[in-house]
Order: sequence, then structure tokens, then C-alpha cells
Amino acid sequence: MHDDAASFASRLATVRGRIERAARSVGRDPGEIRLIAVSKTFPVVRIREALAAGCRDLGESRAQELTAKAAEVADLNPRWVFLGPVQTNKARDVARWAHEVQSLERIEVATALQRRLETAERTLDVLLQVNTSGEASKSGVASSAVVDLARQVMGLDRLRIRGLMTIATLGGDEAETRRCFRELVRVQADLRQAGVVAPDLSMGMSGDLELAIAEGATTLRVGTALFGGR
Ligand SMILES: *Cc1c(COP(=O)(O)O)cnc(C)c1O
Repeated sequence: MHDDAASFASRLATVRGRIERAARSVGRDPGEIRLIAVSKTFPVVRIREALAAGCRDLGESRAQELTAKAAEVADLNPRWVFLGPVQTNKARDVARWAHEVQSLERIEVATALQRRLETAERTLDVLLQVNTSGEASKSGVASSAVVDLARQVMGLDRLRIRGLMTIATLGGDEAETRRCFRELVRVQADLRQAGVVAPDLSMGMSGDLELAIAEGATTLRVGTALFGGR
């Protein structure tokens, strides 16, 4: 691979341009939209480029990979966002390194994280992952079960619920992608009604970030559009 820092910076400028245009076209402030650079599968040298270019939130989806990378760039103080399924036997690694977990979907995992966070004397921002696509293969809690899960997680003082995350139907057309994002907004309203504040909506990736912004995303998770092909 011959990508260098300049090419990361130019891809970042392109992505920022897309965010800006999409936000302006629906009357939103692009400055209120957070960009997570999803560095999973990319080596540490590329992570250093991302950090040098000003991306501080980095996304990883495997505990082992997170641990290895986080140890290597600890001096640069990135903010690690965990996006993959959390196995209870990996809760210690996630609790040690992640600042945020967006893929929380089971109370057993939340409880395991709580225990490890107590030991590590840390706290963790969490987003509940919602399966808005209805695909059996997709991670995430069913929309109808989100309020119950949120109530249980609120009993764990080391975890702070910040919002909701979803992945739109794989290969879905624009209407289907929008349907998924609207479903997440609807679940957020359910939570609000139940007294749970979950302002952050993490939806939108390299291929669908414009639609996500139009539907109200506050966080985007972008991998390939920033780092190149995986
Ligand atoms: C890999 C991944 C992304 C980034 O996907 P790209 O299409 O590369 O932008 C976003 N969210 C999650 C949960 C991921 O696993």
C-alpha cells in the first residue's frame, strides 16, 4: 500500500466536504456532526496519519486488535470507540481501552463491562445498537426491547448512555436505508418518552452518510472513505 499522510488528509477533506454539503442542504450545522474514523483492519501507521490529520475518535471492532493498537499509540491519546460485538470474555480489554462502546445490545455484556470498569476505575460512554434492518444476521437489540435494555443499563453507574447506533440494511436502496435511520429516530423518541436521554444518533457510514445526515445523524462512522479500500 502506498497511501501516505497527504492522501489521508485529502480523503478527509473530501469526506468533510460531503458532510458539509449534506448538512447545509437540510439546514443543519455540520459542526454538530461527529466523525469517527473507523480504523479496523488498517495498520498503526495509518492510524498515526489519521491522528496527525486531526481525527481523534477512532473506531475498532475487535477487542484483540483494539488492545494491540491502543497500546502502540497510547502516547497520542486517541479516543477509542468500540463498534463490534463485545464478548463477555473480552470485556476486560474493552473496559481498559475503549472510551465508548456503540455496540451494546445485551445486559450480560453491560454487567461484565461494569465489573471490569470498577476494577480499572474508569467509566464508559455507551450507545445501544438497534437492529433496525430486521436482518437476522445483524447485531443489535430489537426496537421493541430498547427501553427495557436502557433501564437495565441505567442501573450500572460506570456506563453512561449517550445514544443509539444502527447499521442500515446491507445493500438496501435509498428508501430502505432511510427507513432504518428513521426507525432509530423513532426508538429515540420512545426512550425520551420513557425518561431516557439518548441524544447521540450514530448512523451513516462511507456509502450512506448523506442520507444519515438528512435523517438526523449526529455521529458518522467512516472507514473506507477515509482510509481507502479494506
Ligand atoms: C466497519 C464499520 C463501519 C465503517 O464502514 P465503512 O463502510 O468502511 O465506512 C461503520 N460501522 C461499523 C459498525 C463498522 O463495523
